[in-house]
Amino acid sequence: MRIPDILARDRPCFSFEFFPPKTEGGVAALMMAAAQLRSLAPAFVSVTYGAGGSTRARTLDVVKAMHHELGLEVMAHLTCIGATRRDLYAILTELKKAGIENILALRGDQPSGPSAEALELGEFRHASDLIRFVTSEFDFCVGAACYPEKHLESPDLASDISALAAKVEAGASFLISQLFFDNARFYDFLRRVRDVGIGVPIIPGIMPITSVDQVKRFTTMCGATIPASLVRELEDRRDQPEAVLDLGVAYATLQCADLLAAGVSAIHFYTLNRSPAARAVVSALLVAERIRVPRGVGTSLP
Ligand SMILES: Cc1cc2nc3c(=O)[nH]c(=O)nc-3n(C[C@H](O)[C@H](O)[C@H](O)COP(=O)(O)OP(=O)(O)OC[C@H]3O[C@@H](n4cnc5c(N)ncnc54)[C@H](O)[C@@H]3O)c2cc1C
Repeated sequence: MRIPDILARDRPCFSFEFFPPKTEGGVAALMMAAAQLRSLAPAFVSVTYGAGGSTRARTLDVVKAMHHELGLEVMAHLTCIGATRRDLYAILTELKKAGIENILALRGDQPSGPSAEALELGEFRHASDLIRFVTSEFDFCVGAACYPEKHLESPDLASDISALAAKVEAGASFLISQLFFDNARFYDFLRRVRDVGIGVPIIPGIMPITSVDQVKRFTTMCGATIPASLVRELEDRRDQPEAVLDLGVAYATLQCADLLAAGVSAIHFYTLNRSPAARAVVSALLVAERIRVPRGVGTSLP
């Protein structure tokens, strides 16, 4: 089913992102994690694709396994950096044959070092070129990435939002955001995006923190801000991995509850191929959604 149709039908919607593991053991662990998350009835799951096609076969295998063995709605990521039309046509044909309906069309990160030269052979410059290609050659439902704190290469948010408008004009019918930890930035972004007339659904991307060093690395790579009070709490727990996990789940739960209360109807989780944190967050959100905890109205504590 096409993602905008799922979003229009169900509320709230939760989705989970995975990356294709490098080893057989990793694949088995990933399938276990996805099977555990399936009990939360995700709207869809997604599988990333390495820039330059570096994970092509593994992405395809995981996409097929999740779709056919677990019966999940799978969105396949696809990057165009370094790729020819022919490469892209071939992989899209395979995805179509596998019964996949939704594609997240991306440019992919610019590599550095020797591989950079090979990638210059690619035929598309921007994700919008890929979106136009996919929508003109196939009948996939296509989504794109957006950046509440702007893409690192963009000089400012306004020019990044213009590039986003070009992706929607090219045919993107939904957007998934880069991870963020400060909801105020997301709300501000949403206002600015709606102000320029972008009306497609925007799904916020949330990553429950599981490691201090890892979240610092990711946020440096993608330009997301971690609020100072959260950094302090993380640093206080640096030597207690379990306490970091607990804080990550607690923070992501509060962040998602605030998003849902503000009217957001879907949330995409960056799972890093592990299920416990995303399961804990979504379970808490579903309890809040479905069960009214009796409040003892009118009583006062002694
Ligand atoms: C939800 C999500 C999923 C992701 N999944 C993957 C994945 O599976 N594999 C992977 O390798 N990476 C993935 N990425 C990372 C992504 O590939 C990088 O952020 C990449 O650097 C940019 O990709 P993009 O599709 O946003 O590119 P683009 O939309 O092409 O944007 C890249 C830069 O170019 C600018 N730009 C875009 N169009 C124009 C234009 N017409 N004129 C001038 N400037 C323009 C933009 O403002 C931006 O600064 C993901 C990111 C997100 C948010």
